[in-house]
Amino acid sequence: MVCWQMKGDTKGKLKSLIKGKISLDVPMAKYTSLGVGGRADALAFPKDEEDIRVILQFAKERTLPYFILGRGTNVIIRDGGFRGIVISLYHGFRRVKIISRGDEEVLVYSEAGVNLKHLIRFTREKGLTGLEAFIGIPGTLGGALAMNAGAFGPEMKDVVKSVTVMEEMGAMVVKQRKELRFSYRNLVLPKGSIILRAILGVREAKQEEIVAKVKSFQRLRVQSQPWNMQTAGSIFKNPEGTPAGQLIDELGFKGHRIGGARISEKHGNFIVNEGDATAADVLSLMAFVRDTVYEKRGIRLTPEVHIIGEG
Ligand SMILES: Cc1cc2nc3c(=O)[nH]c(=O)nc-3n(C[C@H](O)[C@H](O)[C@H](O)COP(=O)(O)OP(=O)(O)OC[C@H]3O[C@@H](n4cnc5c(N)ncnc54)[C@H](O)[C@@H]3O)c2cc1C
Repeated sequence: MVCWQMKGDTKGKLKSLIKGKISLDVPMAKYTSLGVGGRADALAFPKDEEDIRVILQFAKERTLPYFILGRGTNVIIRDGGFRGIVISLYHGFRRVKIISRGDEEVLVYSEAGVNLKHLIRFTREKGLTGLEAFIGIPGTLGGALAMNAGAFGPEMKDVVKSVTVMEEMGAMVVKQRKELRFSYRNLVLPKGSIILRAILGVREAKQEEIVAKVKSFQRLRVQSQPWNMQTAGSIFKNPEGTPAGQLIDELGFKGHRIGGARISEKHGNFIVNEGDATAADVLSLMAFVRDTVYEKRGIRLTPEVHIIGEG
């Protein structure tokens, strides 16, 4: 059910205001790796910064909420969908280039809609090392920065030099690494900020070494995660001490299911959509795990996935 606070012509007006594509009443399950969730009133693919500014202004004038979507690989959209505008930088913000080569460091400019996979291929082809551990994280650079994504040790905070964001009111701000408040799977930015691009610091290395590193990280991932299934990555953050996946495994929950959602047999902290799961199934399974882990082990698990929309 679409319940725009704007009606008829006004919807068309937003379409006419920007150069990028806008679709209305969009099933968001198609845009998330878990494949669940209801419809968004609008999904916008701004072409440039001016388009984003226009969308933000439009949303502000009508007090419409907006949400920034990367590749949707760490979000759960509830079954009632999202009443507002989902903004994706996936079409318009995909440039990558080297901006300087020093003896110690090479600086790479990348826009937020670039897939990490593409970024890693780019750096590998240019003989640059530093991003290999992120192979297999299926999101965009924007999502990876917003989540301070990491794997096998390195996190995004270790490679980023600066980030350019557009704030809610349309102002552009460049934040240097020392001003960026990264923590475990989080980057604190003013509410409503949109990451547009970043500069990353990497180093020169031999192609064979880079390829070998990529392959070994890929192998580790394939062994330990259900990488080829519909999931949202790690569901819970790792608490101090025992990793969430291990806790869930120790309690014997692997394979436990509610509706079409199942705890992966391969990794206890992944929930798999068996094909017909709803967001409610996934959220019920999460609540079951959270409550039982607390009851049995006294540990409070908090979600790593971002949960949005209406129940
Ligand atoms: C199979 C699988 C394996 C995974 N493995 C890992 C792993 O090893 N390590 C890890 O850390 N994660 C992992 N993830 C989770 C996920 O891929 C990462 O968190 C990824 O960085 C999210 O990127 P995204 O583009 O999909 O962001 P989304 O899921 O679309 O968004 C995540 C959050 O970032 C915000 N966001 C996205 N883009 C922007 C932007 N431009 N500006 C401001 N905010 C933005 C969104 O609003 C949302 O709050 C995995 C996921 C899957 C499905």
